[in-house]
Amino acid sequence: AKKQGKDRFEIFEPALQAVFQAGLQLEADLRRAVVRHEFELRYQPIVHLRTGEITGLEALVRWQHPERGIIPPLDFIPLAEETGMIVPIGEWVLREACRQAAQWNLRRVGEKPLTVSVNLSAVQLDQADLPQRVASALEDSGLPAECLVIELTESLLVDHRPSTLHQLEQIKSLGARLAIDDFGTGYSSLAYLRRFPVDIIKIDKSFVDDVGDEPTAAALTLGIIQLGQALHLSTIAEGIEDLEQLNELTDGNCELGQGYYFAEPLTDDDMSELLFPAAG
Ligand code: C2E
Ligand code: CA
Ligand code: CA
Ligand code: CA
Repeated sequence: AKKQGKDRFEIFEPALQAVFQAGLQLEADLRRAVVRHEFELRYQPIVHLRTGEITGLEALVRWQHPERGIIPPLDFIPLAEETGMIVPIGEWVLREACRQAAQWNLRRVGEKPLTVSVNLSAVQLDQADLPQRVASALEDSGLPAECLVIELTESLLVDHRPSTLHQLEQIKSLGARLAIDDFGTGYSSLAYLRRFPVDIIKIDKSFVDDVGDEPTAAALTLGIIQLGQALHLSTIAEGIEDLEQLNELTDGNCELGQGYYFAEPLTDDDMSELLFPAAG
């Protein structure tokens, strides 16, 4: 097999071969990263737009590579999905996010508990025991199920298997909530709202980007917000970067938002400081 492999390499252009070998290196590194727990979470606040109050956090994974430093998710999640490594990585993300949120909620005495949103990959949904893993993460952390939001992208739902709906219903029956991420970018966003037990729509950043400048983007954004209201769903606007966007969204009655205008994804220490300023 080794010889065959070598022959195969020789038909590649040198540049292509370099790319291929870099991919193999990344895969080997990623295997090591899973064993050595080289992942970290960042938390981005989700804010009630009218009051400015933080109602929840989205957990976003980072790979702390020993030589290359922080690697963003889009640079390794696709490989993690192809190789199945997203399953242990995603499980760690889920458990750690629940643990951290439960800990913060304990310190928020007399305040409404924060929600924590976790991104799930299609590969994770194909695992038959996913609902049990979610239940176990909730139980071990002590986080109430209604504080957990599972985020699914439209592309995940496009290629859904027959088992997907059943999996999602089981997760819902635990008391967790479901959000459709990047809403409006897929081919049949509206169909998913009928087919899947969704609670929250996340308006894709591409709409939010132009909401203050472009009438079409503004009309579509307002339309999505009204759709959410008609279906009794929460709407979260993603990627709010400036006051103009915030004002447009608030005027349009969008309930929640997140984006650099409020805060970037923060380390757990920085998030603790934001949540509990007096504690130092
Ligand atoms: P997403 O779920 O749509 O997450 C939002 C992305 O937008 C995050 O990028 C966030 O840092 C970024 N962002 C937030 N506010 C702003 C803003 O105002 N301006 C701009 N330009 N960007 C903003 P990040 O953390 O690099 O994550 C990228 C994607 O990777 C996520 O997109 C999500 O699809 C995926 N991802 C992240 N963490 C996980 C994870 O734990 N599991 C899985 N399966 N996917 C993850
Ligand atoms: Ca997300
Ligand atoms: Ca998104
Ligand atoms: Ca603008």
